[in-house]
Amino acid sequence: MAAAAWLRHLGPDKRIAVFEATRIGACSSGHTGGMTLPETAAGDLPGLGDVLAGFSGILRKLQVECDLKLPGALEIGRHGILPNSPIHWNDSGAVGVTREIPGGTIDPGKMLSGLAQAAAKNGALIFENAPVDELHFDELPVLSIQGKSVRARGVLLATNAESLELSGLAGIAQPKFTLAVATEPLSSEQMSSLGLAEGKPFYTSDLPYLWGRVFDGNRVIFGSGLVHLEDWRELLTLNVSEGQPAELLAHLEKRINELHPALRGVRLIHRWGGPILIADKWEPVFRRHPEHNTVIVLGAYSGHGVALSVYLGAWAAEAMLGKRELPHWEGDASAAA
Ligand SMILES: Cc1cc2nc3c(=O)[nH]c(=O)nc-3n(C[C@H](O)[C@H](O)[C@H](O)COP(=O)(O)OP(=O)(O)OC[C@H]3O[C@@H](n4cnc5c(N)ncnc54)[C@H](O)[C@@H]3O)c2cc1C
Repeated sequence: MAAAAWLRHLGPDKRIAVFEATRIGACSSGHTGGMTLPETAAGDLPGLGDVLAGFSGILRKLQVECDLKLPGALEIGRHGILPNSPIHWNDSGAVGVTREIPGGTIDPGKMLSGLAQAAAKNGALIFENAPVDELHFDELPVLSIQGKSVRARGVLLATNAESLELSGLAGIAQPKFTLAVATEPLSSEQMSSLGLAEGKPFYTSDLPYLWGRVFDGNRVIFGSGLVHLEDWRELLTLNVSEGQPAELLAHLEKRINELHPALRGVRLIHRWGGPILIADKWEPVFRRHPEHNTVIVLGAYSGHGVALSVYLGAWAAEAMLGKRELPHWEGDASAAA
């Protein structure tokens, strides 16, 4: 969505179409935690630039209102807890803030619908229930969509954890399913004693991983757990109320209840999950398709894609317009091709 909106923003004469397999937001972006982070899951990468400044600027230029707040993000752990840590939890031992980094949160639903509205308002065509079944190459790339062929001068494949054969990421990146829960509204006393009154999102620096954020001022979303998959198609039938996802959710709920006395007995009113894609060394994939130079593949943010999908999506749009080169990141042998 960001790429489509940005393409029309920079090239209003270009004809842009987005083909979405089911509904916009069906996968990660509609199930995300919405924490905005300054780097990739592999840290800073050569030429990455200032993700949060770029991300905020793109949302501003596209007039996307999505409750973006950047108060900072808290890294929490067991060792090196800061003397002024606002967080004092118990997670198999005392846990507190070890570091604060730039970061914050957005409202994922508002961001996604805002980007879709910006794309549509700028003149991009959006087709839902339009799965791309195949990509082949004549002189130009040709997409096959429900028996119809669409020839395009340039293509961006941003299909994340699904359609890995299409994006050429099968066997290169690992699809996973991760889980989250949301509490009922908490009182301001509960929020203060949890150390979350300032609304800063948090994540653990050691394992087992736990992340969370404040939503709507007084509800807390927590997330953790990975379901390992043999094939991305398992994502299509996963159900959070049975099997391994249900077990992981039960484990997460118990962990949350025991984190702090203020969380004991708190009701969890939403439970869900969604896909993430993890590539080699946790680096995002951002490269040209090995078989066709005008096809760009972007994704595998390893659970760090909220700000990156917008920031790199806009970068991909600039590359499609010939205004910018793709980055050359380690482990991405074809990036230089
Ligand atoms: C529970 C959860 C919590 C998360 N929390 C955070 C967080 O706090 N911070 C953070 O930075 N990241 C987080 N992430 C990760 C982040 O949400 C994702 O990295 C990001 O949303 C990926 O965006 P995307 O546009 O690349 O992929 P998606 O939003 O998954 O979009 C890909 C789209 O491609 C479509 N598609 C697939 N195949 C085809 C095809 N053949 N034809 C047409 N369309 C197709 C899908 O239907 C889908 O809509 C979280 C993810 C989950 C699941």
